[in-house]
Amino acid sequence: MRCLICFEQILITGIHTLLFHPPICHRCFLKMNRTPKKIFIDGIPIQTFYPYEDFMISLVYQYKGCRDFALAPVFFAYDAFYLKIKYRDYWIVPVPSYKKSEEERGFSHVKEMYRFLNRPFLDCLQKKENFKQANLSKEKRKESVKNIQRCLDPPLQNKKILIVDDIITTGSTLQRCLHLMKDLKPKKIDIVAMAYTLSNS
Ligand SMILES: [Zn+2]
Repeated sequence: MRCLICFEQILITGIHTLLFHPPICHRCFLKMNRTPKKIFIDGIPIQTFYPYEDFMISLVYQYKGCRDFALAPVFFAYDAFYLKIKYRDYWIVPVPSYKKSEEERGFSHVKEMYRFLNRPFLDCLQKKENFKQANLSKEKRKESVKNIQRCLDPPLQNKKILIVDDIITTGSTLQRCLHLMKDLKPKKIDIVAMAYTLSNS
């Protein structure tokens, strides 16, 4: 088996490689600098896994910017097994992308990243306009997240919801999504974001 990132042969370096068959080699895994961290929004913990720096920035760019769809399984290579068990009875709500950007890209980068969970996606949130959070002032950011709206109101009283995103920057997007989903009163809400920017640490 070859590493999805560097194409080197994957060597069995330990029990983990033997049991879980990660699609990446140990060297690439180390470069990703997996450092799990919980960030709190409105008292709800967001589980994140990687600082968004150097290697991760280029990896995400290759995946999302260069549309290298085949990289989707690398981000949770070492956590897939545990997350699949933890969220086995959850419904997945992806943080929405602007529809046009997604059509241009040809795939939903957030959904593909979390497809390994093998759980149904609930597309109940949409992004009306395109904006880059990082380029906006704090006030503008608060205003701009109102572009994210609920487009479906499925009954969720008996459902557990997992909101998923790729990178948490300021947290205001996830905060907005959390707020919109809370209105539907699901049984439980958890949040996972693959990476976090260092402004969050
Ligand atoms: Zn590799």
